Amino acid sequence: MPALYNRINNEELKQRMLAETEPRTTVSFYKYFQIEDPKAFRDKLYIALAALKVFGRIYVATEGINGQISVPASNYEAFKSTLYAAAPELNGIRMNIALDDDGKSFWALRLKVRPKIVADGIDDPTFDPSHTGVYLKAKEYNELAQQPDTIIVDMRNHYEYEVGHFERAIEVPSDTFRDQLPMAVDMLKDQRDKNIIMYCTGGIRCEKASAYMLHNGFKNVFHVEGGIIEYARKAKEQNLPILFKGKNFVFDERLGERITDDILSECHICGKPCDTHTNCKNDGCHLLFIQCADCAEKYKGCCSEECREEKNLPPDEQKARRAGRDNGPMIFNKSKEHPLRKHRDNWKVQRETVEIHQTATTGQ
Ligand SMILES: [Zn+2]
Ligand SMILES: [Zn+2]
Repeated sequence: MPALYNRINNEELKQRMLAETEPRTTVSFYKYFQIEDPKAFRDKLYIALAALKVFGRIYVATEGINGQISVPASNYEAFKSTLYAAAPELNGIRMNIALDDDGKSFWALRLKVRPKIVADGIDDPTFDPSHTGVYLKAKEYNELAQQPDTIIVDMRNHYEYEVGHFERAIEVPSDTFRDQLPMAVDMLKDQRDKNIIMYCTGGIRCEKASAYMLHNGFKNVFHVEGGIIEYARKAKEQNLPILFKGKNFVFDERLGERITDDILSECHICGKPCDTHTNCKNDGCHLLFIQCADCAEKYKGCCSEECREEKNLPPDEQKARRAGRDNGPMIFNKSKEHPLRKHRDNWKVQRETVEIHQTATTGQ
C-alpha cells in the first residue's frame, strides 16, 4: 500500500526540494462542494498527488477543498487532470497561478481533513456554502458597481481594507470572518432589494459570504470571481477602468501588491500618507502596522519607543520580558490596547471606530 503521509524529516525534505533542478509552478485553488467522505477523498487524492511530486497544503472538508501547492512544471497538466477527475464538481476548477513565485515555498505535501475550508462559526446544517451568489468577471463588476442600487461589501479585515479597496466599498468592521457574516446580514437588513456585491482577496471568503447572504433571504447577491487578484489581472489585460484603488494586501514578503498609485492610508505613527505594512522588529511584539520611511528610521523599524528600547536589550533580558506576556492578535487595531503600552497618546491615528463610507449604503 502506498504511503499516505510523509515519513521523512522536514529538513531532509527541504534539502531535496532545494536540490531539484526542474522549475515548479505554484497554484492555488478552491471549490465549495459537498464531499461525503472527506477522509477517503483525502487519502485517494494524496496518493495521486504524491506520485506527481506535488508539494504544499490542501484542506479537505465536507464543504469542499482549498489548496495552495507547487508542482514540477512538466507535471502541471497531469496535476490538473488528476484534480479535475477527483470529483465531477472539480472538472474545470479555476487555478490561480502565482506569477512571481520561485516555487520554493513548499517541500512536502500536507493534505488535511478539516471541519471547514474557511472557518465560519456556522453550525446550521441547512446552510449550503455551495449555493453561492452570481460570479462577476471584471467587466461585469465594473458595470454593476456603477449602478446606484448596488452596494459593494469588502469581506476582508480592516488592515487589508485600509490600504486598498474598491471605490464605494463598505467594510464589515470585525476582526474575524465568523463575526463578519452575521454582522453583514445585520448591516444590510434593510437593503434586501439592492444588488449586493461581495469581494475578498482571492474569492474564497466572499464566495461563502455570498452563500450566507442568500441563506438569509437576500436575493441579488454577487461576488467577484477570483477576488481582487483576478479582477486586477483581467482589468489590466482587457484595458478596463480599474475601480480598485490602492494596494491589495497579501501575506507574502511584499505585504501587498500595488494596483493603483492611490495611497489611501496613513502612517500609524505620524499620520503621513503611507500604505507600507511592516512587522515591528521587536521580537516581543511583531505588530503588523503601517509605517513611513521616516518613522522606520526613527524607531529602527519598531512600532514605538518602548519596542525600540526593548529590541536593544541583551537577548536574555528581552526573553525574560516576553515571558508570560500575552500579545493577542498582533495587528494594528485602533480599538485594542498595545500590550507594551498603557496609553497610546503617541499614536496619531485615533479614529474611534472603523470608518464606513456612508455614501455606499445610501447609494449616492
Ligand atoms: Zn510616519
Ligand atoms: Zn512593537
